[in-house]
Amino acid sequence: MLNIISVDVEEYFHPSEVARFAPEDQWAGLPSRVEEPTRRILHLFAQRETRGTFFILGWVAERYPQLVREIAAGGHEIACHSYAHRLVYDLTPAEFAADTKRAVAAIEDACGVSPRAYRAPSYSIVTRSMWALEILIQCGFTHDSSIYPISHDRYGIPGFGSNARTLRTPSGPILEVPIAAVKLSGKRVAPVGGGAYLRLLPYRYSAAGIRRLNYEEQQPACIYLHPWEIDPGIPRLAQGWISRLRTYGGLSGMERKLERLMSEFQFSTLGEVHPAPEPSASRSAVSPG
Ligand SMILES: [Zn+2]
Repeated sequence: MLNIISVDVEEYFHPSEVARFAPEDQWAGLPSRVEEPTRRILHLFAQRETRGTFFILGWVAERYPQLVREIAAGGHEIACHSYAHRLVYDLTPAEFAADTKRAVAAIEDACGVSPRAYRAPSYSIVTRSMWALEILIQCGFTHDSSIYPISHDRYGIPGFGSNARTLRTPSGPILEVPIAAVKLSGKRVAPVGGGAYLRLLPYRYSAAGIRRLNYEEQQPACIYLHPWEIDPGIPRLAQGWISRLRTYGGLSGMERKLERLMSEFQFSTLGEVHPAPEPSASRSAVSPG
């Protein structure tokens, strides 16, 4: 089964765990480290003849347009990870629309491709910010991958399920591709999709989760990572032991885990695994459930 591999292209000072120690007005003065690990990911994908979906931060696209062009030249899917990594549920609809349009323009200016898939910073499309999907549709997006179907202190819609499905809104349909999570006993759900879970837990846990989704639930898994997660030399900005563990735990073993995942599973882009939904309300690309 083809699974989805996605990369959120952002700097080490963009994740929410770090944001309060590195406010936006300081970003331009911090040393950049996004290019080298992104190129290492591109090299690894090329070696494996794998295409992935790259959710690019508009802020990064503006500063490193050549990097965006290299991603596009590798045949990967160009997607959007907002402009300034602000949490959707902290924004008004007008602010979210402005941030999204600015990101789309930055990505288009860099590589000439209009992104059709969106991923919210820190999976911040939650029950109270579902309004954002309509704005994404109005901005031309056909796919969203912003829902983590688990419970977490900052994000998640527990009970959403990890199967992709078309969500219909008054502005039209959008294909929602949640991050991989597997059902445990009762109502409990365990994350397997990536980030801190992929870094901190043993490889066999992630691999078993993907196999379970593929074979028992007959679903592709959507996996994600960030360039800074394969860069153990990043400055440690986050403070407090929980934030430090979530952000910096397992960095040194992450590239090896990624290589192993790519040798044992087949991956492609979001758009290839889940073609865009039909605009007509009478058809559903993926049955809801
Ligand atoms: Zn992010």
